[in-house]
Amino acid sequence: MKRFTASFFALPTAVLLLLSGCGNAVKEYEAVDTAMGTVVTQKLYTEGDNVTGDVERLLSDLEKTKLSRRIAGSEVAKLNANAGTGTYTEVSGELAETLQELSGIYEDSDGALDVSIGALVSLWDIDAHAQESYEDAGEQPDGTGGKTEGYHLPGEAEIKEALSYSGFSKIERKDNSFLLPEGMVLDLGAVGKGLACDDILAWLEEQAEVKAAVISVGGSILTYGEKPDGTAFKVAVTDPFDTGTYRGYLTLTGNWFVSTSGDYERFVEVDGKRYHHILNPATGYPAESGVKSVTILSKNGMISDALSTACFVLGEEKGRLLAEKYGVEALFILEDGNISMTEGMQEYFTEQTK
Ligand code: AMP
Ligand code: MG
Repeated sequence: MKRFTASFFALPTAVLLLLSGCGNAVKEYEAVDTAMGTVVTQKLYTEGDNVTGDVERLLSDLEKTKLSRRIAGSEVAKLNANAGTGTYTEVSGELAETLQELSGIYEDSDGALDVSIGALVSLWDIDAHAQESYEDAGEQPDGTGGKTEGYHLPGEAEIKEALSYSGFSKIERKDNSFLLPEGMVLDLGAVGKGLACDDILAWLEEQAEVKAAVISVGGSILTYGEKPDGTAFKVAVTDPFDTGTYRGYLTLTGNWFVSTSGDYERFVEVDGKRYHHILNPATGYPAESGVKSVTILSKNGMISDALSTACFVLGEEKGRLLAEKYGVEALFILEDGNISMTEGMQEYFTEQTK
């Protein structure tokens, strides 16, 4: 069975026919696909047609037109292409707003979340190597670790150089136009899945026939609406020490976003040491902050995704302060195996007894 970073509990895959209060049949549809370089899992409860394909198209459009740094023509690729040229790049109002919010989180996290570290991300190349190993094995990326063969572990000088190109505060803005300095590369990998969940929620709210949904885009999950049987959503939190199992789950009703960042999601191992994909912009190395994973519960997808990454880099103490500042709930699974969470999270989290 495939494993996911955090996911809703598996239910029988057969389509169930349920009767809603007004007599219309509510059908349940499931879909598993890949988009934005990750696994997308959907469960939709609707009185209408199966629209899981529409959600997949929405994600693919978001990646192509806005977020991908690899697809030429996307807004982020255009920003990167103009870095150091002196030419400001105009972006959509939505992306401009996102960049503004990211600037705030960069400041509030003391630079722990810095989406301008694309050059460093490319140098480490961990996503690509972890991904490669899954492809070799004919599997989806599911957090089981990377291939070391042929992997180049970056050296001090290379790391220093890549870091010299980063620093979100170096970006200049005029209205909705932005100018990156020479060598800077934006990488929205830390927030893209949360942004995707925000877009899906906005779209779902226009689909009157869809009554409820649980959609997971990699480490970010959206719960929407109310299930026809009135039961709550259960969103599992992976055990980072045993990624095929859950450490517990969140019980949620209505619209929520849950994002998890963990050192088990993407990594390579060199000489027995794990190098994972969440980098500390202060050191240039994978963050070592005493946590194995951070789960954020929020009413905003981008914020949940951004803060799960930021809190992972900051560690428990500073991460809690950041979570409080943004009014979100946070759950830290620590390197010693203990769990630490904000007071509000206790209302939602149930630990799994093993
Ligand atoms: P996430 O899985 O949401 O925590 O995001 C991790 C991804 O964000 C990585 O694969 C990189 O592409 C990028 N990234 C890694 N470290 C950082 C960081 N400190 N700030 C911003 N983006 C980062
Ligand atoms: Mg994130």
